[in-house]
Amino acid sequence: MKLTFLGAALQVTGSMYLLEVDDFRILIDCGQDMEKMKKEETPQKPKETTYFRKSTFPFEPSSIHVVVLTHAHIDHTGMLPLLCKEGYEGQVLCTTPTYQLTNILLHDSAQLNQRRLKKSLDKNRRKLPTNLDELYFAKHVDDTMERFVTVPMNQKFKINDDISVHFNNAGHLLGAANLIFKIKDKGVEKTICFSGDIGRKNYPLLQDPQPVPQVDYLVCESTYGNRLHNKNVVPEKALYDVIKKACVEKEGRLIVPAFSVGRTQALLFTLNKLYQNTDLPRFKIYADSPMALESSKVYEKSIRSLNKEARDFFEDNEELFDFENFEYVSDLKHSKAISNHYQPCVIISSSGMIHGGRIEHHIKENIQNSRATICMIGYCAEGTLGFELANGAKEIMVRNKKMEVRADILKLDCFSAHGDQQDLLDFVGFQNPKILKKIFLTHGDEPAMLGFKEKLEELNYLDVNLPSKGDVFEL
Ligand SMILES: [Zn+2]
Repeated sequence: MKLTFLGAALQVTGSMYLLEVDDFRILIDCGQDMEKMKKEETPQKPKETTYFRKSTFPFEPSSIHVVVLTHAHIDHTGMLPLLCKEGYEGQVLCTTPTYQLTNILLHDSAQLNQRRLKKSLDKNRRKLPTNLDELYFAKHVDDTMERFVTVPMNQKFKINDDISVHFNNAGHLLGAANLIFKIKDKGVEKTICFSGDIGRKNYPLLQDPQPVPQVDYLVCESTYGNRLHNKNVVPEKALYDVIKKACVEKEGRLIVPAFSVGRTQALLFTLNKLYQNTDLPRFKIYADSPMALESSKVYEKSIRSLNKEARDFFEDNEELFDFENFEYVSDLKHSKAISNHYQPCVIISSSGMIHGGRIEHHIKENIQNSRATICMIGYCAEGTLGFELANGAKEIMVRNKKMEVRADILKLDCFSAHGDQQDLLDFVGFQNPKILKKIFLTHGDEPAMLGFKEKLEELNYLDVNLPSKGDVFEL
C-alpha cells in the first residue's frame, strides 16, 4: 500500500492523506490549509508556489473511492465541498457528532465565502473574483452533506472485502476519533492508525482518549510535541480566578476568544458548574456566535457520547449550558452593543485565534482599555492576532487600525483540547516499539515535531519520520 502526505505536513493545518491499496484510494481528512490562506492574505510577502496552486487538489477528485474523517474541525474537513464540487462521487464516513458539527462548520464557511464574494463584487464593480473556483457556497455544502454515512464509535466498519476501519475515541472534540485501518494487502494483513487530533484526560464534557491497539504504522499529530500543559490547573478553579480578577477586582470586561465548536461548550459547561457551586457574582456571560448555539444543541443531543460528569449533570438539570446570567448573542447589532456593555461581563466569541469573526470588534473596542482583560485559551497559529497577543505584543493592527495593547492579557492552557507532549507520548506508548514499523509526525510545526521525535527516540521508537507535503511512502 502507498501513503501520500497532502497536508498538515511540517505545519499544523490542512490535514489530508491519501492511502492507496492497489487501485483503491482512500482520502483521510480533507482539511483547509489555514497557513496557506494566511500567507496569501499578506500582500507584501511574495505568494508561495503552493501544491494546490494549479488545481485545487493534486489528484483527480473523481478517482477517490471513499473519504474518512477523523473529526469536524475545518482544518480536517474544510475542503470537502470543493472535493465534491470538483467531481468526487463517493461516500464520506465519520461518526454521527462529526457529521452534525461538520454540517455547522461548513455552512459557516460557505456564508463567509458568500460575504467575500459580495465584498469582491462591490469593490471590483461586479467583476467576479479570479479565485471563484476555490470558493464554495451553501448549495455545495448541502450536496456534500448528502454524501455522509455515519459510523458508530468503537465498532469495526467494513469498507470493502480487504479494508475495514475502526473509529476510536480521541477525546479531542465531540465525535473525534483515531482511525484504525485493517488492510489485506496482497494477502498480508497490515494496520495503520491516523491519530487525527489527540485530546487530553479530564477535559470538560469529553470522554478521555482511548488507547489504540497495536498497529504497524502510526500517523501521529504533534501540535504540542514540545510543550507540557500545567497539569495542576483545574479548569473550574482557573476560570473562577480569572473572572474574579477581571470582573470583580478590576470591575472590567473579560474577553475570551474561543472556537464556537467545542471550546465554547467546554467553557460554558465549566461556567454553569461554577455558578451552581460558588458565590461568584452573576455578571452577564455572553456567547457571541450563532454557531455556538447550534453546536451546544449538538452536544446536548449527544449526551451518551459525553463523559460521566456531563451525563450526571444532564440527568440532574436537564441541560448543560443554561444558567440564569447567560445569553447567546445571535444578531450582529447586539454583538456590537455588548462590546461596550456598561457593567463587568464575560464575552466569549470566535474566532479563537482572533483571525476574522466577531471577536475582532470586541478586541478593537477593548484592547486600549486598561480595565479590560483578554484571556487566551487555545492554540494560535503564527500570523494571527491571537498569536501576537499571546506572545506579548505591545501594539497590534486590528481591522486596519494600529492599536496599543493596554488591556491585560492572560493565558490559560487548561481549555486546550490538544494533548501536550506527555499525552502524545502516552498515546504512542501503547505501541510496542519493536512491532510498530514507522511513525509519521504531522499536524505540528517543525520545532514541535523535532522535540517530540527526540523524546520518542529516547523511548526506542527509532523510525520517526517528518514527511513534507507530497512525500510518498510504500508501506
Ligand atoms: Zn481539531
